[in-house]
Amino acid sequence: MALIVQKYGGTSVGSPERIQNVAKRVARWHGQGHQVVVVVSAMSGETNRLIALAKQLQDQPDPRELDVVISTGEQVTIGLLAMALKEVGLKARSYTGSQVRIVTDSAFTKARILKIDEQLLRADLDEGTVVVVAGFQGVDESGNITTLGRGGSDTTGVALAAALKADECQIYTDVDGVYTTDPRIVPEARRLSSITFEEMLELASLGSKVLQTRSVEFAGKYKVRLRVLSSFEDEGEGTLITFEEDRKMEQAIISGIAFSRDEAKITILGVPDRPGIAYQILGPVGDANVDVDMIVQNVGHDGLTDFSFTVHRNDYQKTLKTLEPVIKHIQARGIVSGDKIAKVSVVGVGMRSHAGIASTAFRTLAEEGINIEMISTSEIKISIVIDEKYTELAVRVLHKAFHLEQPV
Ligand code: ASP
Ligand code: MG
Repeated sequence: MALIVQKYGGTSVGSPERIQNVAKRVARWHGQGHQVVVVVSAMSGETNRLIALAKQLQDQPDPRELDVVISTGEQVTIGLLAMALKEVGLKARSYTGSQVRIVTDSAFTKARILKIDEQLLRADLDEGTVVVVAGFQGVDESGNITTLGRGGSDTTGVALAAALKADECQIYTDVDGVYTTDPRIVPEARRLSSITFEEMLELASLGSKVLQTRSVEFAGKYKVRLRVLSSFEDEGEGTLITFEEDRKMEQAIISGIAFSRDEAKITILGVPDRPGIAYQILGPVGDANVDVDMIVQNVGHDGLTDFSFTVHRNDYQKTLKTLEPVIKHIQARGIVSGDKIAKVSVVGVGMRSHAGIASTAFRTLAEEGINIEMISTSEIKISIVIDEKYTELAVRVLHKAFHLEQPV
């Protein structure tokens, strides 16, 4: 007997029929003798609908009240799923985040989980009841309802699995696992049977939207065994997200190609090349709450240098505004910028022990005449900024160059 936490996303509970299908799947696991905790999202589109409603009343909805509104989507699905479970003959009980006592900080709309009281759930499980918990929501120490940020139900699932020391946390979604890249761009993309947490984090934060990044961090930290599966297929082992030391010796050097079109690039020209200049530029950007991703500073000439960096596209205009006085103050020659760029990344833990990955990537892009505008690397990834119009071509040729269509 195992204790399994299953999380179902919005499309998996998007209609009464789909909720019935979830109930049948839960019944199968329960019937095999497992204890099952189910975490659900709101029905697909529901959270967006609630946010839009709030915005009709306030341009910038009050964060506390917004959480009161948007947490209701999940309250609907837990009740409906508990009913469907009873209809298939199981004992079931639903809980909101505050009923469980999923305690968070008070950062409304992006709260972090501080602790979970697992007593109630444990008692239910011990008497054979299936527990259904609302994802995405919690309660702060003063009893205010909070939410965990978009996609936060994944984090609820992982956090519950950690608190209950579950044997596995299964994330059911509308894809059947994590792929070597987006199959819409590369039809030969392959489902990975396993991937390490570190690789998954890179892929999640680089724009492959299967799991909320925070949930992957959480699972890595608390050693939760995590699996991504399709809720629309009865068979299939999905993708297991695991620890590097647990992986087989035989493994691919590269796991996947990620890409993101969410970036913008800013270059400040003719910056005086002297100590403190990076701080004078990026300090104000950080103070404006903008995360900087890649940074490149060129070799100086005649006491001047060019300084480039990328930010999220949503922060592009704000960053340009922030820099206006800075440019004047440091007497830089000017600024060139653009948001028609894309970042393509080659990810794999095998890079640690294999040389030549970067040169293969650069050669591959050169052969297609794709100009590389910026490069950054870590131990397990190489990221390259290119003109947005070459995104798909770059992903395709890199996927091919690293033979990702072939099973390991
Ligand atoms: N319903 C929330 C959202 O749409 C949480 C989730 O689905 O994970 O972001
Ligand atoms: Mg999701």
